[in-house]
Amino acid sequence: MTLSAEAEAILFSPREKCARFARLRHFALDLLFPPHCAACHRPLDPPLNTVLCRGCAERVDWIGTDRCRRCGDRTGAGSGATGDCPSCRTYPPAYVEATCAVGQFKEGPLRDLILSLKFGRRHHIARPLGQLLAARIRATGIHAAKSCVLVPVPLAKEHLRRSGWNHAEEIARFAARELNCALEADLLRKVRATAPQATLKRMARRTNLSDAFACDGTQARRLSETTVILTDDVITTGSTVSECARTLSRAGIKTVRAAAIARA
Ligand SMILES: [Zn+2]
Ligand SMILES: [Zn+2]
Repeated sequence: MTLSAEAEAILFSPREKCARFARLRHFALDLLFPPHCAACHRPLDPPLNTVLCRGCAERVDWIGTDRCRRCGDRTGAGSGATGDCPSCRTYPPAYVEATCAVGQFKEGPLRDLILSLKFGRRHHIARPLGQLLAARIRATGIHAAKSCVLVPVPLAKEHLRRSGWNHAEEIARFAARELNCALEADLLRKVRATAPQATLKRMARRTNLSDAFACDGTQARRLSETTVILTDDVITTGSTVSECARTLSRAGIKTVRAAAIARA
């Protein structure tokens, strides 16, 4: 099985456009800690790739050119990029201009890595996932604006207390570093706990999330002309990202886009 040109670009050139200082830092880190495949732990060739070996990469269900630019979901093979997939025609993601995702969540190394980070507490996985996310954002050009910041989807305080950290924020931190843009982890807050979206019917999802997020007004004014890229590990129904984007728009942010490691 061969990798698509787009998957090759995501996997094998994430550092080409790094600032010189970032390249030096990566080089030093690679010398100290030789990179291994994040999924199977085989040694990797650092100048080429620092995330997944070719065998694991071939098992990823990459979302390539056949995708919906609006919601980031994959469309049928050979259909090319579209702006309105069947799902978007019925339920377009509110307030989100464009979305991208690295691959499908269903099975394979991406799913294993996300679950290991989230529930296995293997914190070091945030770095390769952040690199993949950054490469995907760069390949789709959704950050190509005057200036952009990454904003991770926040967790409720109760959830944070239980888990001790926000894995989506850690992924975003590494992605922001790769993209050389700012991370604004305090712009959005989740002000109340909500039921997991996947367990609810579509109508109930809206009410479940209604007013669940709040935006810092001072920061929003400062960032009103900046492109905000909301980031998450997995986008399932898209309603969480939509609600976050609605909160940002209400606070005055003009352009909101979204990026995730996986699309379920
Ligand atoms: Zn591997
Ligand atoms: Zn769509």
